[in-house]
Amino acid sequence: MDVVIAGAGPTGLMLAAELRLAGIDVVVVDALPARTGESRAGGIHARTMEIFDQRGLMDRLLPLGRPIQAGHFGGLRMEFGDFPTRFPFTLGIVQAVIERELEAHATELGATVRWSSPVVGIRQDDDGVEVEVGGPDGGVIRCSFLVGCDGGRSTVRKLAGIGFDGTDATMVGMLADVELAEPPAGTVFGQRRGSGDFSVIQFQPGWHRLMVQRYDRVLDRAHEPSFEDFRESFREVAGTDFGMHSPRWVSQYGDAARQADRYREGRVFLAGDAAHIHFPAGGQGLNLGVQDAVNLGWKLAAVVRGQAPGELLDSYEAERFPVAARVLQNTRAQTALSRPGAHVNALRETFTGLLDVDDVRFRIGLMITALDLEYDVKGDHPLTGRRVPDADLAVGGEATRIHRLLTAGRPVLLAFDDGVVPSVDGWADRVDRVQAQRGAERWTIPGVGDVPAPAAVLIRPDGYVAWATDEPDAEGLDEAMTTWFGPATVSAAC
Ligand SMILES: Cc1cc2nc3c(=O)[nH]c(=O)nc-3n(C[C@H](O)[C@H](O)[C@H](O)COP(=O)(O)OP(=O)(O)OC[C@H]3O[C@@H](n4cnc5c(N)ncnc54)[C@H](O)[C@@H]3O)c2cc1C
Repeated sequence: MDVVIAGAGPTGLMLAAELRLAGIDVVVVDALPARTGESRAGGIHARTMEIFDQRGLMDRLLPLGRPIQAGHFGGLRMEFGDFPTRFPFTLGIVQAVIERELEAHATELGATVRWSSPVVGIRQDDDGVEVEVGGPDGGVIRCSFLVGCDGGRSTVRKLAGIGFDGTDATMVGMLADVELAEPPAGTVFGQRRGSGDFSVIQFQPGWHRLMVQRYDRVLDRAHEPSFEDFRESFREVAGTDFGMHSPRWVSQYGDAARQADRYREGRVFLAGDAAHIHFPAGGQGLNLGVQDAVNLGWKLAAVVRGQAPGELLDSYEAERFPVAARVLQNTRAQTALSRPGAHVNALRETFTGLLDVDDVRFRIGLMITALDLEYDVKGDHPLTGRRVPDADLAVGGEATRIHRLLTAGRPVLLAFDDGVVPSVDGWADRVDRVQAQRGAERWTIPGVGDVPAPAAVLIRPDGYVAWATDEPDAEGLDEAMTTWFGPATVSAAC
């Protein structure tokens, strides 16, 4: 087996699909007997939608969700409608639906998901990992790499001896999915009160998610809340229970913020909540995990296939660790902004004024949506290291757009007819060369502004730019292809 993935949550399923796209043998093992159908997350952001769109998944996910033209920071509303993306909104879509669709996508590509199969032990040597799997069909699976996508309490992380430092919970949040006899008006309703705040979100007609956050007590994992616990706590803060009944799910969460001290121990990697946990403010965790998976997938595949050197895998932690660290910081800030009291009220008022300033709104909104990411990629073109915009273009006279070129999960060298058309000789087995007619003279890059559309651009499978040029030559292209996709293949004729 090439790769074992522990955990069939959004991160593990996305990673499995990415590896299968690249033809890698993969099995996903999960401790649960079956998918629960429960949903912690209720929404995804623009960059994740772009990532899904790059693989053709938005065609199935968009009709299953509800676009909301805004997001928030610590509960303070921010408009996203003018963000430079094809998806300038938050998509309200429950985690269970995302998982169902990702599982279908991964299994259509040939991945296997084994339920009732917890990882209980690991042993690694220079050539591979022995993964001990419990459950009725348990046993040992030997693989080249193991990826722990097994959530915040990750067994893989513990077995690999990777530390998980950070800050403890300072509050408690509870949620319940219920029906309401007397629902408030609107699809989203929330208020701040004495000791906390509450919100009511209509997921579907007749089905509401209620959340209550309290700052006068702290999360106690030893005590699983009952529906009655939830109702009482909600009533204490909101003064009403909106006639809640028929609970489907009750759960609790806190604002502990922790990050794995490294994302790799030899042949074992961590991704998603296994690598980072934080308060669910702004709905960023699932997004982060899916983007970890898409960053790691093509790199792992290239190394498993023997095309790229093992050092390529070091770029996974180098690129993704700072992104999660930033999310931990912004969620801590959001918790601070959410506490009750006159001082925080004053801070919120100040912040509300700041968010009216477009530059501030863009800066914070682009961070929450992850549209502004810039990986440390060699090159001084303003596009290098940033996500390629989904610009319109035509290929062979047919109208299309850039993200459509990434569906197969392969690197793409995109060159425009009126510029240089560089060769990919030596990499033709793994880099697709596309010659196109540009649809726009300028591209808008979040956090940068408008730049001239380049003459040619080398796009990694995750949609980030490995190299770009405005000049009629291809200086630096071979070096970029070697760095990211491995050395050139020497043809037999040479
Ligand atoms: C109240 C709340 C609201 C949220 N809202 C949002 C939101 O709107 N947007 C957003 O982006 N994020 C949100 N999140 C965060 C999001 O739910 C998580 O970040 C996301 O589920 C992480 O996905 P994952 O695949 O990394 O881990 P998980 O979803 O935790 O999946 C881990 C999987 O690993 C399995 N597993 C565990 N142990 C083992 C083992 N030993 N062997 C094998 N399998 C194992 C588990 O059974 C599980 O299926 C929210 C979280 C909470 C608590």
